[in-house]
Amino acid sequence: MHITNFQAQNYRNVATASIDFCPGVNLLWGDNAQGKTNLLEGIYTFARGKSFRGASDSELCRFGTDTYSLSLTCHTGGRAVTLGYRYAGGTRERRLGGAPVSRLSEMIGHFRAVLFYPDHLQLVKGGPGERRLFLNIAISQLDPLYLASLSRFEKLLANRNALLKDAQRLGFLDRDLLAAYSEGMATECATIAAVREKYIAFLERESEALLHALSSGRERLTLRYTGGGSKEDYEKKLTSSLDREIAAGCSLFGVHRDEMEILLNDIDARAYASQGQKRSLVLSLKLGEGEVARARSGEYPVFLFDDVLSELDEGRRAFILSDAGERQVIMTSCERRGFEGVAANEICVKDGVYE
Ligand code: ATP
Ligand code: MG
Repeated sequence: MHITNFQAQNYRNVATASIDFCPGVNLLWGDNAQGKTNLLEGIYTFARGKSFRGASDSELCRFGTDTYSLSLTCHTGGRAVTLGYRYAGGTRERRLGGAPVSRLSEMIGHFRAVLFYPDHLQLVKGGPGERRLFLNIAISQLDPLYLASLSRFEKLLANRNALLKDAQRLGFLDRDLLAAYSEGMATECATIAAVREKYIAFLERESEALLHALSSGRERLTLRYTGGGSKEDYEKKLTSSLDREIAAGCSLFGVHRDEMEILLNDIDARAYASQGQKRSLVLSLKLGEGEVARARSGEYPVFLFDDVLSELDEGRRAFILSDAGERQVIMTSCERRGFEGVAANEICVKDGVYE
């Protein structure tokens, strides 16, 4: 899959832009604060459904305006697909191939992208929530049933937590309702955990090979899912710890507590990996995510790499820049230098203008 054109109006520091991309490596280069990341953020909206920097729609409108629109045309499955997003008068309008789309979930999966953003080092450095979020976003783009199961789970979790909170504060508990929520949650947990475990096994194989190449054979990656289990396992946990859950006022077991551990040469990467090793690990996971997506869907997703090369030594840089093959990569850099003969398309970014 590759993007052919992207348009933005009144988005962040962009007044109006229409940018053509080509397959292979596209370089966005320019000084700090010119609009490189803003563009990736706009593009990634179509993969994720919202800003990856957590901005609200009103924050995304260019200062002094209250409307913005984005449109992305990509080539996928042998045809062109155009996705549109418009925010005006406090409401959102989504379009797929010109037709309005009401639900966000109907937008997800048509355009698939893998994003590397410097903050994503949190994937290794941060808490378990970062890794669950990574899994949820990666798998949701490939599997609409996973996304559906996840949103049912989140509703059940919110309801169950509200019940436990009431029990904690008011001492009143509707046990039948709680049992119904627990059963529903256990069903979703077993489904979600099984999909995650399968995904992780696949991801580990791909990312391990990539890290091996990236580190010239020095580093070995292992991924481990902790938690998990059958519906009965989850149900047992959810029913046997009621007193503790009431004391805590929230659900203590479920896929919202499960973890994907990352080991580097058999030790916990979070505690021991160096800065460059963490970056390499995250890159291997992101590139691996792309390989899994290609195996599942037949096409590579688009790779959006924000400032990916800093902190990497020569060997690792060369690996990233070597042969994009069928992949479309859109990467940002403050410098044009170092991309000679690599980028098929160079876009100079200056004050929200792309040339
Ligand atoms: P760096 O190399 O430092 O990462 P960048 O080119 O990636 O820079 P961006 O993150 O794209 O920079 O941001 C460019 C500018 O956009 C920032 O100066 C920011 O203040 C501005 N900006 C962000 N939101 C808005 C908005 N809603 N309206 C106008 N300008 C905005
Ligand atoms: Mg930036």
